[in-house]
Amino acid sequence: MEQFGNSVDVLVVGGGTAGCIAAIQAARLGARTMLLEAGTQLGGTMTTGGVSFPGLFHAWGRQVIAGIGWELVLRAVELDGGVLPDFSLVPDHHWQHQVQINGPLYAALAEETCLDAGVELCLYEFPTEGEQTPEGWRIVSAGKGLSREVHCRQLIDCTGGADVVGLLGFSRLRDAETQPGTLVFRIDGYDIAQLDADDIQSRYEAALAEGTLRKGDLSNPNAPFISFLASGGGSANHQFGADSSTAATHTRANIEGRRCALRLLRFIRSMPGCEQARLASMQPETAVRETWRIAGEAQITEADYTRGRVFDDAICFAFYPIDLPPAGADSLRKPESACGGSQREQ
Ligand SMILES: Cc1cc2nc3c(=O)[nH]c(=O)nc-3n(C[C@H](O)[C@H](O)[C@H](O)COP(=O)(O)OP(=O)(O)OC[C@H]3O[C@@H](n4cnc5c(N)ncnc54)[C@H](O)[C@@H]3O)c2cc1C
Repeated sequence: MEQFGNSVDVLVVGGGTAGCIAAIQAARLGARTMLLEAGTQLGGTMTTGGVSFPGLFHAWGRQVIAGIGWELVLRAVELDGGVLPDFSLVPDHHWQHQVQINGPLYAALAEETCLDAGVELCLYEFPTEGEQTPEGWRIVSAGKGLSREVHCRQLIDCTGGADVVGLLGFSRLRDAETQPGTLVFRIDGYDIAQLDADDIQSRYEAALAEGTLRKGDLSNPNAPFISFLASGGGSANHQFGADSSTAATHTRANIEGRRCALRLLRFIRSMPGCEQARLASMQPETAVRETWRIAGEAQITEADYTRGRVFDDAICFAFYPIDLPPAGADSLRKPESACGGSQREQ
């Protein structure tokens, strides 16, 4: 599979949604492009993490984001026989404009599109050291059975945690309080019509009180437990402190996620009418929302974002409610111009 030896124009590290698109774009423009991905497939959080509902591409009745990401989403929906939301309607809730996709299919299509564009794809490989050179960058990477030097003119950090930026000794940002992680899984095999909501609720509260279940095992511990079962048993647990910045911390996050799945499965199977419940699916790793960020030359503030500031050197658009807005702020308010622009990564 080696196309370019150890010298490329563009080296992209991390093959999540961002890295795939960066690599495809560079290769389509004729740059000799290599993509290093530490995991087994492309797509990152959206495929391996199971967060398979990309958006938002539309705002207030018109499309505001397109490009290679949209191209991949459309192809995934089409090949899966899926249906796009009706984007002509302004939704009551932003998630009604998220596009439900088949994660494994997206991973396969992203891979095919990378290879068709001429990207050299290196799975199971990650950088271990690096330095700036007069021509660009020298990166040492390692993977199962290999360790090598790669020279590149442009280096793009799409690791989702500013790993390469940290490795090279540049500044990164991290908040004291980070958003929780989530291991995505689904439990089925029960008949909701046969269940006694009150009995289940008192068992749930007792399990929380005695520690058999924990507060983050459901994303909303205050909602009735029956609503978790009624909505299809799809977990969105909240793992507080989940961290993917090192192999050790991500191992811990995965172990905690799988412990949560076992706790919930055992609890559900202990209830009358749920004896046949089963773990229908589970992602291979806990998806971590937040670790390190690149300390960029410019930083987008909440005011920039909600007012739709367009930077002179913008390279893309972003549109989504702010997940954790300050108390009292309305994260869905309409921007003053089309949508927020993000600054160029140096
Ligand atoms: C549970 C959860 C729910 C979310 N819900 C939403 C939502 O509703 N709406 C929304 O807009 N966003 C949501 N997000 C955020 C969104 O999923 C992410 O912002 C997006 O997926 C990030 O894409 P990325 O390509 O930057 O990073 P990632 O998807 O994290 O991809 C990074 C890739 O880099 C690889 N990698 C990491 N380190 C290295 C390394 N050192 N060397 C080589 N490869 C490496 C990883 O294996 C991975 O494939 C959610 C995130 C989570 C975790």
